[in-house]
Amino acid sequence: MTAAPVIGVLALQGAVREHLSAIEQAGAAARPVSSAADLAGVQALVIPGGESTTMSKLAIHDQLLEPLRAARAAGMPMFGSCAGMIMLADRVTDARADQEFISGLDITVRRNAFGRQVDSFEIDLDIAGVAGGQFPAVFIRAPWVEQVGAGVEVLATIATGDRAGTIVAVQQGPLLATSFHPELTGDARVHASFVGIVRRYA
Ligand code: GLN
Repeated sequence: MTAAPVIGVLALQGAVREHLSAIEQAGAAARPVSSAADLAGVQALVIPGGESTTMSKLAIHDQLLEPLRAARAAGMPMFGSCAGMIMLADRVTDARADQEFISGLDITVRRNAFGRQVDSFEIDLDIAGVAGGQFPAVFIRAPWVEQVGAGVEVLATIATGDRAGTIVAVQQGPLLATSFHPELTGDARVHASFVGIVRRYA
């Protein structure tokens, strides 16, 4: 793929605008996606942070859940941040009973895992595939990854403190997920690494 890839941002709820601008900063074209027709017009999708229970309800209501699952199953690259990580996970601990997911990423995440201790915080992380020094990672009532399947690469863990060793960024082929919000700091390096994944897999 030589032209700039067209990357959608699921625009049901959450930090949509910030992802659109980070994608453009990373050299791709960005479009909001709020219908199956929008989804058909993009090569890849970012699922933003927000609230995964609300996102699930809206995706069902707007008849987007099955198209999202089908796009993922067909190999569309997807990047989920925070609630988006939950939407992509195969197993979710502390989900609401009626909550639905896109799934496909072979990880177990715990919803609101950090939120029980402290609602929001920022730490600098070393992330595999992200050059240029540590990345400022903002966590907001974030999930963490409790278990990863054999095909999943761990890209970042918390280095120090009580939660040292906790997995907060993973990749499985065309699927990328972070517990944190890389769209909130004006640093587009995680989005640039997703653009690289899209160029490779889309
Ligand atoms: N706690 C939220 C959820 O369960 C995620 C928070 C976020 O995306 N900032 O969906």
